[in-house]
Amino acid sequence: METLASSETISVTSPVSLRQLYSFEADGRDRIDKIFQQARNIQPSIEALTAKERIEYVMKIKDYVIANRESLIDRIVAETGKSRFDAFTSEIFEICDVIEIFKKKALGLLKDQKVPTPLVLMGKKSYVIPQPLGVILVITPWNYPLYQTMIPSIFAFLAGNAVVVKPSEVTPLRGVVEEILEKSGFLKDAIQIVYGGKETGSMLIDSRPDKIHFTGSCATGRKIMEHASRYLIPVDLELGGKDASIVFDDVDIDRTANGILWGAFTTTGQSCTSIERLYVHQSIYDKLLNEIVRLTQQLKTVSSEDDLQKTNVDVGAVTASFQLRIIEEHVRDAIEKGAEILCGGKRIEGTQTFMPTVLVNVNHSMKIMTEETFGPVLPIMPFQTEEEVIHWANDSPYGLGGSVWSKDLKRADRVARAMKTGNVSINSHMITEANPHLPFGGVKESGFGRYKGDFGIWTFCNMKSVLVDKQSSMIEAHWYPFSPTKYKLLNTILDSLFVRSKKWLNVLQTAMQLDKIGRKEKY
Ligand code: ADP
Repeated sequence: METLASSETISVTSPVSLRQLYSFEADGRDRIDKIFQQARNIQPSIEALTAKERIEYVMKIKDYVIANRESLIDRIVAETGKSRFDAFTSEIFEICDVIEIFKKKALGLLKDQKVPTPLVLMGKKSYVIPQPLGVILVITPWNYPLYQTMIPSIFAFLAGNAVVVKPSEVTPLRGVVEEILEKSGFLKDAIQIVYGGKETGSMLIDSRPDKIHFTGSCATGRKIMEHASRYLIPVDLELGGKDASIVFDDVDIDRTANGILWGAFTTTGQSCTSIERLYVHQSIYDKLLNEIVRLTQQLKTVSSEDDLQKTNVDVGAVTASFQLRIIEEHVRDAIEKGAEILCGGKRIEGTQTFMPTVLVNVNHSMKIMTEETFGPVLPIMPFQTEEEVIHWANDSPYGLGGSVWSKDLKRADRVARAMKTGNVSINSHMITEANPHLPFGGVKESGFGRYKGDFGIWTFCNMKSVLVDKQSSMIEAHWYPFSPTKYKLLNTILDSLFVRSKKWLNVLQTAMQLDKIGRKEKY
């Protein structure tokens, strides 16, 4: 149901000290109407810009982010509780990297795309024009608040759209994106921010954007799709995951243990593509396990707000209190069913920091192996055969990412192909996301649609097909009037053109006869 005013008060708290950082009233219908009006007004001017001009605007954002990186990181770490290093690599560095790659890539993607025209349409030409859709609504989650707000918005803008973006109420970074856009000299009103929770999000959908790009949980993704279906608004859904990482017996233990550690605990395990379950070949299980536990015990965790200033702290706090309850529930469920904690397993009192945790004796009857945990918990299970581990990896409602570790690249490639996911890294984890040329997205309940890669721009475009006949005098064979002779000749074309050994002479002669008939037989 449409709500006229939002009654939500948003309170933003520090995940480390649990003190309130600030609070505000969520945006309601009046502001949303104004924002949408401004977006509709500015959109034709964005469409009128050349691709180069749009790119110039986006470069201003990059320059501002580079120049102000430390103050931006201050805001990110305060609200997310993630480590400073994580904020630098996965938000600041990533934003700059994606913009730099798309500086060139977008030019090619926004050009008319020529496509071949088949022989039966001889003399004509065909192309696809990537055109904007209008106003794009971007709804973002709390785990990468700056990156997830900026990158889809920038892609949508590059495609010529106006953008309305609603950050998560958990980490809204209130005022930060406005500051970047205003102070960098970005085009006014081209990207606008609306603040609030689900009520505000729902009102935004009622404003009938031309497309919705959503990143968040499966449960909310379902609601958004259902709501959007009322107006037939297309949606891209980037949802959750339960990434499996598979380690074969021929790996370098030291490198693999370090890679797994990062894949499981980066951004406090709150990445949709974090390692959520690890399968290790039986023959190296003990060795790798010992190394992972030894390294995990050395990780420095955020335990005070001061730690958010340090660049030698590894793992941050859990950002959302409701997520911490899920993590604790998954660990409790695993223990009750026979799992054993080798390190971590509890939070630091007075904070939302959950100690990096390694669990063994786990199986697929436990939530920790089947539901999204989204925290710094690594359950490890041994396997015997390739067939068995592929079965386990695919035993999940999710299909976002995964990784395979082996020196045998043929085997790694075979397993990567067998995994039912949208992304797989080989001898690394989550590294596909570091290459903006690669598309990102999931299958199964991890959602659909892709962004980054070529789709990064095209997902926000109306890919308009055009076919041109240069006004020849020809009357097409499939036009009226129909006649038995034309029917017979078209059958001859079918028999000559679509058979394995084509009969070109027949095609030519028949086409000429059809042309003659076309000129003679008219109503
Ligand atoms: P998470 O951030 O944990 O993945 P959600 O999936 O619930 O959490 O939320 C992701 C984003 O979706 C947030 O910006 C949130 O405010 C927004 N949201 C939640 N419910 C709705 C809804 N019914 N309609 C529109 N947006 C919503």
